Amino acid sequence: MYEAETIDIAVIGGGHAGCEAALAAARLGKKTILFAISLDSIAMMPCNPSIGGSSKGHLVREIDALGGEMGKNIDKTYIQTKMLNTGKGPAVYSLRAQADKTRYHEEMKHTLENTPNLQIKQAEIAEIFMEDNHVAGVVTTSGALYRCQAAVLCMGTYMKGRCLTGDNITESGPNNLMPATKLSQNLLDMGIRLFRFKTGTPARMNKNSLDFSKMSPQYGDEEIVPFSFTNSSEEIKREQALCWLTYTNEKTHEIIRANLHRSPLYGGLIEGTGPRYCPSIEDKVVRFADKTRHQLFVEPEGENTEEMYIQGMSSSLPEDVQIAMYRTVPGLEHCEITRFAYAIEYDCIDATQLKLSLEFQDYPGLFSAGQFNGSSGYEEAAAQGLMGGINAVRYLDKKEPIILRRSDGYIGVLIDDLISKGSKEPYRMMTSRAEFRLLLRQDNADQRLTPLGYEIGLVSKERYDALREKERLTAEEIQRVQSTTITPAQKTQELLEKYGSTPIKSGVKLSDLMKRPELDYIKLAELDENRPMLPLAVQEQVNIQIKYEGYIGQQMKQVEQFQKLENRILPEDMDYETIQGLRLEARQKLNAIRPHSIGHASRITGVSPADISVLLIYLEQRKRG
Ligand SMILES: Cc1cc2nc3c(=O)[nH]c(=O)nc-3n(C[C@H](O)[C@H](O)[C@H](O)COP(=O)(O)OP(=O)(O)OC[C@H]3O[C@@H](n4cnc5c(N)ncnc54)[C@H](O)[C@@H]3O)c2cc1C
Repeated sequence: MYEAETIDIAVIGGGHAGCEAALAAARLGKKTILFAISLDSIAMMPCNPSIGGSSKGHLVREIDALGGEMGKNIDKTYIQTKMLNTGKGPAVYSLRAQADKTRYHEEMKHTLENTPNLQIKQAEIAEIFMEDNHVAGVVTTSGALYRCQAAVLCMGTYMKGRCLTGDNITESGPNNLMPATKLSQNLLDMGIRLFRFKTGTPARMNKNSLDFSKMSPQYGDEEIVPFSFTNSSEEIKREQALCWLTYTNEKTHEIIRANLHRSPLYGGLIEGTGPRYCPSIEDKVVRFADKTRHQLFVEPEGENTEEMYIQGMSSSLPEDVQIAMYRTVPGLEHCEITRFAYAIEYDCIDATQLKLSLEFQDYPGLFSAGQFNGSSGYEEAAAQGLMGGINAVRYLDKKEPIILRRSDGYIGVLIDDLISKGSKEPYRMMTSRAEFRLLLRQDNADQRLTPLGYEIGLVSKERYDALREKERLTAEEIQRVQSTTITPAQKTQELLEKYGSTPIKSGVKLSDLMKRPELDYIKLAELDENRPMLPLAVQEQVNIQIKYEGYIGQQMKQVEQFQKLENRILPEDMDYETIQGLRLEARQKLNAIRPHSIGHASRITGVSPADISVLLIYLEQRKRG
């Protein structure tokens, strides 16, 4: 072993988590090195060529609001963009953009390369060098010791990576990149618990071998909504690519059923646990046997490639079966497969070993983020990477960690779920997981989190001031709308009739009309003579805050209740074994997870409301001494 260099923070991994962690640490002034087994894996998308989607779009917006990079990077490299769920309420509106995978990687790598305080290095880390049980460095497989006081583990799907296509099994990371071979054992020797998880991806095909006349085209939105609050639609507007919709059919399902015995999943070759909400086509055919077809989206992998991604048909069946099954799909009859579908198994940690700051409870200075924490998805990984990077810096600066609560954002829900409940399968974010989702909309992520990003030091004063200005304009306009009366003039009645809304008999406040389901701020513009010219983002806020005022108010009350228990902080030195009245399972779980607050304790599986009452009484007695 030789001493290579002394730095502040080592980030192990150049995936979506590692990139955010390294950028946050370097931008906050720490001398940082990002290590990756291959620099070609930087911000690589080994699976779907898209960023965002239901609830994942919320995560990207929150990352951007806090000063992270993912939102900016996809705005530079998207090839199609769409706002999903616009038929439902704003709580579930979610932006989704198809990315040019190669350009996404190049842009992110370029940003890393041009960030002061940051180096990127192609090297495999084999060991976390500990001194007095504290992080003191990382050691590469070539024996180079990089001394540092904090490290962020972001190794994704590479740890003891094993790829399976039928009985063709290779020790490999995604896309045939090298796996990580040594670090798992080092972490096990340190006493860190590892799980074996699995995920899978579909085949890629040459566009020229597909027949799009048998599929239906899927267009992007005309009105472009940026992921980053720092961008405007005009700035990022560009021509968009097409995606295509087709379906499997009974022939496809017959081939799959006839070959299930050759599937590593059903043949018992796969040990790892897969994601329930991203099932392989084999799983879909078995679990939803009554369904006669499953929808597939054929998506371009980029502008400068003919490779197409078959979303909805990931698999690990043998190659010959894949050729047969894909060729039963309308439009894919003569498909040329460029990369076969495969499943990948990898080591990840039981995240209940972490604090809500993403630091290991038992190893000061060691943080973990991304797929290695048992989550699944680029966005989930990036969100954790950002928080892990920020908190590694605050650890070195001896500052309180930044912990986002479930009422602050989807990032708070994500980390709280992983740490409090742990995950027995790859954890994917969904809007149904966020109990306060009406407040955690993607459109107001900046109002919720940019002030914190500014306080942390990742958001500029200029951007902070721009947010304050947006809020000032919004508040002013809401006041004006609430004090504007619309008279029952003929023009009014005609407009109400146009939207199938009940005529008015006397003057009504504009804001009250806006609350009618069939009306909104935009539709009522022609009745509103004194309306000022306002940015789209302000108009959107005025509309949502007035239309959903009642629901938002109710949810704010629920948050107040929630905060009460969150504010009952549990001392770090509690020995739950000694607290009379606590059930055995609760004592064990509380001592293992060491919750941050009563609220946190109440979400741990195995801790009952009765246990919480015992804890509250115990805290009162302790206070009285
Ligand atoms: C085949 C496949 C299918 C997937 N399917 C889905 C899906 O359907 N839905 C979904 O939501 N997500 C899916 N994913 C997950 C998605 O890719 C990941 O969620 C995401 O890439 C995780 O980001 P990450 O930063 O945590 O890790 P990764 O992107 O995996 O990056 C890990 C990084 O760590 C580096 N590294 C690892 N070990 C070491 C070491 N010891 N030393 C130095 N560097 C190291 C690697 O070189 C790499 O740069 C899939 C992933 C794969 C591989």
